[in-house]
Amino acid sequence: MTFEELGVIPEIQEALENRGYDTPTPIQEKAIPSILEGHDLQGSAQTGTGKTAAFCIPIIQLLKKNSNNGHKIRALILTPTRELALQVANNFSLYNQKTKLKQLVIFGGIPHDKQIKRLKQGVEVLIATPGRLMDLHQQGYVDLKHIETFVLDEADKMLDMGFINDIKKIVKLIPKKRQTLLFSATMPPSIQEISKSLLHKPLKVEV
Ligand code: AMP
Repeated sequence: MTFEELGVIPEIQEALENRGYDTPTPIQEKAIPSILEGHDLQGSAQTGTGKTAAFCIPIIQLLKKNSNNGHKIRALILTPTRELALQVANNFSLYNQKTKLKQLVIFGGIPHDKQIKRLKQGVEVLIATPGRLMDLHQQGYVDLKHIETFVLDEADKMLDMGFINDIKKIVKLIPKKRQTLLFSATMPPSIQEISKSLLHKPLKVEV
C-alpha cells in the first residue's frame, strides 16, 4: 500500500517523501481513508505506531480542500502534556511543508503574549493542552465556533491527569456538527464512555 493509494494528495505525498516515509503504517492504512471520508474514529494505538501522522495527514488534506485564507480555527488537537503538544506540532509542520496551513501550538508554563500575538494573526490548526486553551479562550483570544475536526490525543492520559472537566467544557464550545477523532493507548470503561458521548458512529481501529 502507498500513500497515493490511500488517496493522499501529491502535495502531502511530497512532504512525506522528503521525510523518508514510503509506506503507511497499519493505523495510517486504516485511518486515513476513513477520516478523509469524514467519519469519526476511535483509535487504540500506542506512541510509535504512526498515530500522529494518521490524523495529521487527513486533517491537512480536508482543510486544504476548502481553504478559508487562514482566519478561522478549523481543527483543534488536544493533548495532555506540553511535550506531546510540541511533538504533534513538529510532526504536523513536516506534513504541512507544502500545504502551509497556519498552525499554532499553545501550552502552559510560558508567558501568554507570544501565543496571543500568533492567535491574532490567524490560525487554522490549533494544537493545545486543555488548561492554556481554556485560559486563552476565557480571555477572548480563541474562537472555537468554527471547528470542523476535533482530536483528543492520548485520551487515557488526559483522564489520568484530571482533564475531564476541561474536556467537557471545551466540547461545549465547539460545534456539535464536527468530525471527532479519539486516540488512546488503553480503552478502559471511562474512555469508552467518553468515546460514546463524543463520537458519532466511529470506525474503531486497533493496532
Ligand atoms: P507516533 O506513533 O505518531 O508517535 O510516530 C512514531 C514515529 O514514526 C514518528 O517519529 C514518526 O515520524 C514516524 N512515522 C510515522 N509514520 C511513518 C511512516 N509511514 N513511515 C516512517 N516513519 C513514520
